[in-house]
Amino acid sequence: MSEVIDGKLVAQHIRQKLKNDVEKLRENGIVPKLAVIMVGDNESSKIYVRNKSIACKEIGVEYKEYLLPEKTNMKELLELIDELNNDKSVNGVLLQSPIPKDLDINEAFKAIAPEKDVDGFNPCSVGKLCLGQDTFISCTPYGIIKLLEEYGIDIEGKDAVVVGRSNIVGKPMMQCLLNKNATVTICHSKTVKLERLTKKADILVVAIGKPKFITKEMVKENAIVIDVGINRDENGKICGDVDFDEVSKVASYITPVPGGVGPMTVAMLMNNIVKATKLQNKM
Ligand code: NDP
Repeated sequence: MSEVIDGKLVAQHIRQKLKNDVEKLRENGIVPKLAVIMVGDNESSKIYVRNKSIACKEIGVEYKEYLLPEKTNMKELLELIDELNNDKSVNGVLLQSPIPKDLDINEAFKAIAPEKDVDGFNPCSVGKLCLGQDTFISCTPYGIIKLLEEYGIDIEGKDAVVVGRSNIVGKPMMQCLLNKNATVTICHSKTVKLERLTKKADILVVAIGKPKFITKEMVKENAIVIDVGINRDENGKICGDVDFDEVSKVASYITPVPGGVGPMTVAMLMNNIVKATKLQNKM
């Protein structure tokens, strides 16, 4: 039976530490501020953004939301990003995805000032991650690395398999694991016979958005299984990309959904906003 990795608890400890950091910043007259941009009306985004605002409030970060209508054009979006880049009271700028399809999200991410890029999606941040340089690391992969470290799980020398190659999870996850000296394989929808690869993984990270897709048969005995997926099962209950009940019989460690990776994503966003504030104030 697996040990269940408690992301909620680890995230709580991280937030507590950050709360102390923010208190010290405030004593020096510095109030970290996060600006969040949402374009259009997306139910999931509203929940994610709400969680972020709650975390900001808890640790003492000022939070401001910019809700742009569905019909916003690229020029208007870029103008807002530019305004926030130039606003000295704002330390971090986050564009919540998805945005409407006729807007170019990569162009928008590129417009966010690298020093305020708390989500780590600006090409400059991505490039630095690839080069192994200090940067803002995108929050989900960063949170997963922190979880593994917190549980004393050695990454170096492990065979790691990442399923999913999105720019926000799969690819930066691959890079984070590589930077920690794992041997990494990355899989996607065109991968042939996925299970021959997942079955070799000492560390298996799954981020595909398909409920309970990874079954016990696809997982190596004693593997460490990290489930990024957030889906609804046939009964409308939140579940991950991994069949938790079955896979937990073979894995050594496993993250639950909810309560695994999700809370860590928010905690690492808080980490990045505090880091951005300190860097901008040369602390
Ligand atoms: P995307 O839809 O952007 O990417 C999904 C990836 O999965 C793609 O690379 C796709 O391959 C791959 N894929 C799809 N089907 C298969 C398959 N059958 N076999 C192998 N690979 C497959 O998703 P995201 O990365 O944005 O999100 C993934 C999941 O993680 C979602 O459930 C999302 O809600 C969740 N999520 C959770 C977060 C958290 O904090 N816990 C944060 C962000 C996301 P291809 O590239 O070939 O199309």
